[in-house]
Amino acid sequence: MEKIYPIDSVGIILTYKCSLGCKHCLYACGPKWKEFMRIETLNSILQSIKKLWKNYRPNPSKNILFHGIHFAGGEPFLNFPLLLSAVKMAKELGVYMGYVETNAEWCIDREDVYKKFSLLKDSGLPRIFISCSPFHAEKIPLKKTLLAIEVAQKVFGPENVIIYMAHFIKEIAKFNIENPVPLDRWENIYGKKGAGYIFWEGYGLIPGGRSGFLLGDLWYKYPPEVFREDTCRFEILESQHAHFDPYGNYIPYFCGGISLGSCENLEEFYNNFNLDKLPLIKILVERGPYGLMRFAEELGFVKSSEGYVGKCHLCVHVRKFLAQKTNKFLELSPQNFYNFLFSPYGD
Ligand code: SF4
Ligand code: SF4
Repeated sequence: MEKIYPIDSVGIILTYKCSLGCKHCLYACGPKWKEFMRIETLNSILQSIKKLWKNYRPNPSKNILFHGIHFAGGEPFLNFPLLLSAVKMAKELGVYMGYVETNAEWCIDREDVYKKFSLLKDSGLPRIFISCSPFHAEKIPLKKTLLAIEVAQKVFGPENVIIYMAHFIKEIAKFNIENPVPLDRWENIYGKKGAGYIFWEGYGLIPGGRSGFLLGDLWYKYPPEVFREDTCRFEILESQHAHFDPYGNYIPYFCGGISLGSCENLEEFYNNFNLDKLPLIKILVERGPYGLMRFAEELGFVKSSEGYVGKCHLCVHVRKFLAQKTNKFLELSPQNFYNFLFSPYGD
């Protein structure tokens, strides 16, 4: 029977709710989502990780982003009491904590930012991750990102502030610091090809979630046959990286919209893991998204005549079709990932 390697790093998504609805978002986050992780779910997940990670040491050969747990969203600062409890709980349990992510949209008042960062630091958070990209800047004025960075560097120390990605600061500043910068401004200045290069290569976009659909026209697309040999064995079974969502879904790697089951009891999850009980996942592991497409074609799926930016773009297109055709595949969770994929702000 196929085995799945246990996680050695994980992102805990406290909510899919976000102040933004970025065009590159892997998890289809946005303002339409309502729920936050329940404290009981959070507690079970952290207890379970603690049990799994006896004598945990982060793998030094892996990037710091893949060390321990990190708390993410959506935007975790939308529910600061929950975020603070999460950090305190992880600290108390002795679960190795990497960082908390923020889009900095809420960073308006210096005192408020200082207070929140200090509370997190004093509760045991070692590091903070601040997003900075053309996609975030489409809704957030750079001045908020800069305020977050400045205060974070004071509170956590400059070496403990991850700016993702720092090289975009000066690029965005060339446009505007005071106001958001719509993505078409980049196209106007650099042309479609240049903007595509800046977004896809400069950011290293993963074509999962929204990006293939909402940014794919700026990049190269290929017919599905190009991905015929690509399986997802590494991402699903071998990567040792996952995301756990507010509903307790075990999302392999960065594969938003896929659930391998409940992550609330990891011992049970790994002991009972059986690909034969996960028909769509089995196809992805053995035959990749091209195989999934062939399966879905029997149910009426029609491939895009424009092609796909990458295998994950194809995968999300096929999964969206399946999720909206039938609710019999529990692996396609949460359902709102598919409902909110293209419309983060409104219908
Ligand atoms: S990429 Fe981050 S900031 Fe943007 S919508 Fe997704 S969770 Fe929110
Ligand atoms: S193709 Fe699908 S399953 Fe494979 S890595 Fe991409 S999103 Fe995950």
